[in-house]
Amino acid sequence: MKYSEFFIPTVKDIPSDAEIISHKLMIKAGMIKQSSAGIYSWLPLGFKVLKNIEQIVREEQNNAGANEMLMPTIQSSDLWVKSGRYDDYGKEMLRIKDRSGREMLYGPTNEELITDIFQTYITSYKELPKNLYHIQWKFRDEVRPRFGVMRGREFLMKDNYSFDLNEETAKISYNKMFKAYIKTFLRMGLTPISLRAETGPIGGNLSHEFQILANTGESTLYYDKELESLDPESLDPEKLQSYYAAVDDEHDEDKCPIKKEDLKISKGIEVGHIFYFGTKYSQKLKAYVQDKNGKRIAVHMGSYGIGVSRLVGALIEANHDEKGIKWPMSVAPFKLSIINLMPDDQNCTTMASDYYSNFMAGNIDTLYDDRECSIGKKLSDNDLIGTPIQIIIGKRDISAGVVEIKDRLLDTSEKIQIDDVKKVVSKKLNF
Ligand code: ATP
Ligand code: MG
Repeated sequence: MKYSEFFIPTVKDIPSDAEIISHKLMIKAGMIKQSSAGIYSWLPLGFKVLKNIEQIVREEQNNAGANEMLMPTIQSSDLWVKSGRYDDYGKEMLRIKDRSGREMLYGPTNEELITDIFQTYITSYKELPKNLYHIQWKFRDEVRPRFGVMRGREFLMKDNYSFDLNEETAKISYNKMFKAYIKTFLRMGLTPISLRAETGPIGGNLSHEFQILANTGESTLYYDKELESLDPESLDPEKLQSYYAAVDDEHDEDKCPIKKEDLKISKGIEVGHIFYFGTKYSQKLKAYVQDKNGKRIAVHMGSYGIGVSRLVGALIEANHDEKGIKWPMSVAPFKLSIINLMPDDQNCTTMASDYYSNFMAGNIDTLYDDRECSIGKKLSDNDLIGTPIQIIIGKRDISAGVVEIKDRLLDTSEKIQIDDVKKVVSKKLNF
């Protein structure tokens, strides 16, 4: 993508209601535009990141054997009346009437709908276990939408639902998801901390919350330092669940089971939540299957959520400096910027264009900054939008036979011989 053709409305003046750094940076970098309270348009740069996050989430769900599908945003109230949640959900649910006066709603979550789909088609234990998910917009009329996309009213969530014959196999499904979640967040360059959680209004028996570490996070976490150095290739959910981790109001120094030197304290942001809730919905919505003996029994269910749009903000909270965003490579909207400091100079432009076609041909999402604007603006814009690797091409450097390569994540810069640039950058990009 050429910067001159890209729609990226960076702004200087941040609205005063943007309190936290990720909200400020998302507006500054032209990633989102608020449409009304807690509801945003995703501009091209923000949309690219959202899609990259979504894709990592999708791949790890698919790897764990979950089936992707898509349920509607608008649901009929019928199933919610049956489950008893139509009244319980209260004002957070956006209720709509269609032209015939039927009560509809904009889904805040999908337990009812998925349970109904399941019971329509699955009747035997032989078809279990099953795990279904979708990545779909949700609406919750939050009392105080705030912090940009972190607590929106309309937000993108990956939610899946597992169906098992009994508690024992349901826990296997639960642990599979637990592992997939840790992998998902590790792939985004985040440090996930899982905590035993209250089951809340979704109800049930077992629940974990996933927080990611960020200095600016809202919760204070106390946890075993082992949780900071997980190996994605050998994750054991039961072992991970046995490590100590607690939020501040649950942490008691005197009762803490681990040694002081093993205890870490950091700030975190909740990005995911998983539940095993047994037969709560399957009983009410008649999701029964026949077991081996022909007896009809209610299936055991779990539900699993990841805040895909919240993650965009959370990733920025975890990765930024005073100049702007520092995207981890796996989610970066562009992996590479080619910054031509002198578009008027033939040598600079020839070299920039050559690098651009080379990396585009290698399927590297590259931003070619070909704009006619000040050098300062070019450098600061690319730092603001956080491209991890930046090739900076200037007239003086070229005469000296070198090109500057900046690593935004490590905050380092080096001058590389012109002939070595492609090799060095390719290595950094890992291909
Ligand atoms: P919270 O306690 O933050 O309100 P929740 O318990 O209501 O979260 P779940 O229903 O478990 O959240 O939703 C799963 C995930 O969806 C959360 O972990 C979070 O990442 C995301 N999420 C929930 N509410 C919002 C929101 N208003 N805006 C953006 N993301 C959200
Ligand atoms: Mg909530």
